[in-house]
Amino acid sequence: MSRSLFTHLECTRTGQRYGVDGLHNLSDAGAPLFARYDLAAARGAVSREELAGRAPSMWRYREVMPLRAGDEAVTLDEGWTPLRRARRLGDWCGFRRLWVKDESVNPTGSFKARGLSAAVTAAAARGAAKAAIPTAGNAGGALAAYAAAAGLECHVFMPRDTPAAFQVEVTACGARLELVDGLITDCGRIVGERREAEGWFDMSTLKEPYRVEGKKTMGYELAEQLGWSLPDVVVYPTGGGTGLIGMWKAFEEMEELGWIEPGHRPRMVSVQAAGCAPIVRAFEAGHESAEPWTDARTIASGLRVPGAVADFLMLRALRESGGTAVAVTDEELIARSRDLARHTGIFPAPEGGATLAALLALKERGWLRGDERVVLFNTGSGYKYLEALS
Ligand SMILES: *Cc1c(COP(=O)(O)O)cnc(C)c1O
Repeated sequence: MSRSLFTHLECTRTGQRYGVDGLHNLSDAGAPLFARYDLAAARGAVSREELAGRAPSMWRYREVMPLRAGDEAVTLDEGWTPLRRARRLGDWCGFRRLWVKDESVNPTGSFKARGLSAAVTAAAARGAAKAAIPTAGNAGGALAAYAAAAGLECHVFMPRDTPAAFQVEVTACGARLELVDGLITDCGRIVGERREAEGWFDMSTLKEPYRVEGKKTMGYELAEQLGWSLPDVVVYPTGGGTGLIGMWKAFEEMEELGWIEPGHRPRMVSVQAAGCAPIVRAFEAGHESAEPWTDARTIASGLRVPGAVADFLMLRALRESGGTAVAVTDEELIARSRDLARHTGIFPAPEGGATLAALLALKERGWLRGDERVVLFNTGSGYKYLEALS
């Protein structure tokens, strides 16, 4: 049995249902849509043992991926990234059971590949011909690559000061790049204003339902790679929040599938840059949504997201998990990127270094103990940030 058990889309605010055909952005209530599956049927259709023999990509979880009968995945073999036991790093910082989930080995050098593989698969299967995306960097490169693979026309909107590597990658893949004087939120506004007249499908994070389905596979992989258990703590650098929200969704699905035991989910830690920390501020204030951050600044491009449409879902996941949110300075995240590299051999994106900075801060505060099982997410490769890291 290999059929996906994708049944419908559901509004994350009102629960209103939508069909699986047609191109969807936000719900009528203006909230993100989640894909839902017949998990009871999936429970009978595929076992954990059967998964073990499958191809090493995120599509190994196809029963819980948003495919309809006849849909073909647009894939560059993203996902199934290594979960590395970081013994030397753990010795250095006082953690006995520390891992790094290394997303830098994905196609296009970041975990954005997962989301855009799923989103381009869905858009192409529903007849979209042109896709547009606002990006802080990596999402644009990933959309350009998957659009090239699928033969879609692609329009990428990026802040003018985004490092050169991100820009070159987009144009090399044949996408149209527009540089914007502003931030990702300004890019998002432009896509929103022009999409109807231009016939673009808007691929903004969580404004279409499928990027989060790609990113949730990180949660499935964590469980499978740890022998169907989950760590005590996951430390994740948060921008738009797709990864955090996606993993939380994956844990819920896996509990319903009977693949993990209920009640053992990790505490989720959101890491942001001190120069752009809307989720940290809202978390600390006890708010259910986040005020936009003004004058957002950080060299960690993926974290330069002053406002996110799914802020309420991030804050909810952090609280439900018993987690927390931490801001780290650019000096810290650059220094910890080097520490991570010299103790693991992984050359991380500065967003990955930020998770190590947060780990140290949380240990200092007594929030974490050295014997807890902790996974740091290195979400991308350092190669695109040479100016910042050298
Ligand atoms: C996009 C990005 C992030 C933030 O990810 P979200 O899931 O959107 O919060 C973190 N790190 C890197 C390298 C990124 O490209």
